[in-house]
Amino acid sequence: MTTIPTTRAEAKAVGAMRYFTGNACSRGHVADRYTTTGQCLECVKAQTGAQVKSGYFKKHYQANRSRLVVKQRKYRAGNSAAVMAASKAWQARNPELTKQYKRKNKHMRRAAIGVFEQPDIDGLLRIQRSQCVGCDASLADEFHVDHIIPLAKGGSNWCGNLQLLCAGCNRKKSSLLPIEWRRRHALSFSMLREATK
Ligand SMILES: [Zn+2]
Ligand SMILES: [Zn+2]
Repeated sequence: MTTIPTTRAEAKAVGAMRYFTGNACSRGHVADRYTTTGQCLECVKAQTGAQVKSGYFKKHYQANRSRLVVKQRKYRAGNSAAVMAASKAWQARNPELTKQYKRKNKHMRRAAIGVFEQPDIDGLLRIQRSQCVGCDASLADEFHVDHIIPLAKGGSNWCGNLQLLCAGCNRKKSSLLPIEWRRRHALSFSMLREATK
């Protein structure tokens, strides 16, 4: 087992993404900190949750999509080894999601902005109360991660563009135009969001 660095300088020196000082942050969390920003993980989590709720990510993404895509392409072209390693690491951390995600067209996956991880999916399960957005069926045994706006239509991989569906609804949705599916399910979806406010 590797030990986590205790200072930011040490973390930078060894190339670790996180470090742990053991001291509380200004809001009282005793948690890991990110090496890049020095921010506490719990603070970032709280901030991110608030931003998802307010629709900040969605608005920011929509307003800046073309710029973000170009930026990401440039970064990937210049850092292919690092990108490959990060992608391998993601797959190792998220084996189940990897299986699902690999089914999506490779080019679509690579063009999409955003990342999600198992904790995001766990959060969605909680928000959806383990029920399918399309038909309220239980997702306890099986669920499919669905992109609300499909990757092929320029949808992102951020959590705000994800929903969990049962196998039946997942099949149905892929045979319909996105707008058509959303029209049919607008009600249950908005109610769901309302219920979690
Ligand atoms: Zn904190
Ligand atoms: Zn369903």
